[in-house]
Amino acid sequence: MDDCIFCKIASGEIHGLRIYEDEETLAFMDIAMDVDGHILVIPKKHVKNILDCDFETLSAVSRTVKIVSNHLTEHCGYDGVNILNASDESAGQSVFHLHIHIIPRKKDDGLDVWPKFEGAKEDIRAVFEKVKM
Ligand code: AMP
Ligand code: ZN
Repeated sequence: MDDCIFCKIASGEIHGLRIYEDEETLAFMDIAMDVDGHILVIPKKHVKNILDCDFETLSAVSRTVKIVSNHLTEHCGYDGVNILNASDESAGQSVFHLHIHIIPRKKDDGLDVWPKFEGAKEDIRAVFEKVKM
């Protein structure tokens, strides 16, 4: 996609700190500098988010998320990872090319990565009736 920053990183048109790649996916450093080791995993082909992503592409992305996560814990001194994704503007997505955030974690690193919610407003059974498949 012409105007997409992550497509440009995937193609090499824009420089990215490339950690790992295969034919379908790329892992590179997030430039936010908000937390040590913030990594993004993207498909090389343009898809907007998980909602419009085909199963095959999402499988390839998941595979790379696991390869990079295991690399971080087995070879880079980390103990665990948080995996984050925003799909759609309503969920906080700001770059509209599918990406999975990997945040490497160390025991006692003091990071507060899990969102703090304010409490459910709807009755759990009413929501269950709405969402059950
Ligand atoms: P999200 O809010 O989930 O859509 O996340 C978008 C992420 O992309 C943010 O963490 C940004 O820091 C990151 N980002 C934006 N532009 C670049 C870039 N050129 N290289 C690396 N990461 C980027
Ligand atoms: Zn793109």
